[in-house]
Amino acid sequence: MYMNTNTRIVSPEFDFIQPKTLAEAFSLLEEHGATAKLLAGGTDLLVQMKMERQQPSHVISLAKVKELEGIKAGDGLTIGATTSISAISKSAPVKARYAALREACNAYSTVSVMLMGTIGGNLCNASPAADTAPALLVHDASVILKTAKATRKVPLKDFFTGPGKTVMQPGEILTAIELPEPARGSGSAFLKISRVVADISQVCAAVMLVRDGDKITDCRIALGSVGPTPVRMKHAVGALIGQRGTPEAFDAAAEIVARDITPITDVRATEKYRRHVARIIVRDALLTAWQRAAEGAAK
Ligand SMILES: Cc1cc2nc3c(=O)[nH]c(=O)nc-3n(C[C@H](O)[C@H](O)[C@H](O)COP(=O)(O)OP(=O)(O)OC[C@H]3O[C@@H](n4cnc5c(N)ncnc54)[C@H](O)[C@@H]3O)c2cc1C
Repeated sequence: MYMNTNTRIVSPEFDFIQPKTLAEAFSLLEEHGATAKLLAGGTDLLVQMKMERQQPSHVISLAKVKELEGIKAGDGLTIGATTSISAISKSAPVKARYAALREACNAYSTVSVMLMGTIGGNLCNASPAADTAPALLVHDASVILKTAKATRKVPLKDFFTGPGKTVMQPGEILTAIELPEPARGSGSAFLKISRVVADISQVCAAVMLVRDGDKITDCRIALGSVGPTPVRMKHAVGALIGQRGTPEAFDAAAEIVARDITPITDVRATEKYRRHVARIIVRDALLTAWQRAAEGAAK
């Protein structure tokens, strides 16, 4: 029986174009319209083309657009959209100040995918399982979306609208991700559970805590693979802010997360398993972030 699987070669014909500047990329998008697709590392797009879920007439590669690549540290961090997951995981400022993001990049399934896959592609593909999304959500990131004529900055919490869907408009390119400087006394962590190492998550979770002595003064918790989009948890955060950072408080917050998420049963895990694991990894990530906040080393 014929099946559209990832093992098939890409069959339909398409034009492959490699612009060297952002301006060129915008004019190509305008010229070829809705039948064109942007390609960064291709680790999601090529799979979708092989499975005939995408059949673009033109594939516009962003790989040679230098303006889109690299990490700039200052008051916060700006990460170019085509920066590879591998480059982010090795970045000194990421290591020093954004532990959850670093751990999310290190949790990627294989070295080859880390080298080819980009952070912009991970967000624009808008999988509920995108590993960098929960980490960037707890670091309070925003994305920069550009057309030839306009630029807008969208908080990542408002970016995803459904599986494979975002607020991006036709003709827009995600050019960069901006992260504010972490608050003094903060710590963060990311944890992921998957069936085997080379797989996307069954559940992943990121947390960020700010501590003042033994009190939690701010907190963010975000999860992946537990609903239609990567999601921030409001009730659990509300239960933690102003409390003492104790194992009991973290247990209670993790219970709230397990109650609030909306996982499904699919080939990777059952809904029941996802709730169970979410509670455990959120509790563990909170404990780790709390300890890091005290050390003041890895934020
Ligand atoms: C074997 C395998 C293992 C994987 N493991 C993981 C994993 O562990 N964790 C994980 O999160 N993901 C994983 N993935 C998914 C994938 O590797 C990531 O989502 C990756 O970060 C995608 O980046 P890319 O540059 O390859 O995206 P591409 O495939 O190039 O693009 C993805 C989508 O985003 C659009 N796009 C890309 N860049 C832009 C931009 N700058 N502006 C606008 N639109 C853009 C493209 O048009 C396309 O629709 C895996 C994939 C494979 C094949």
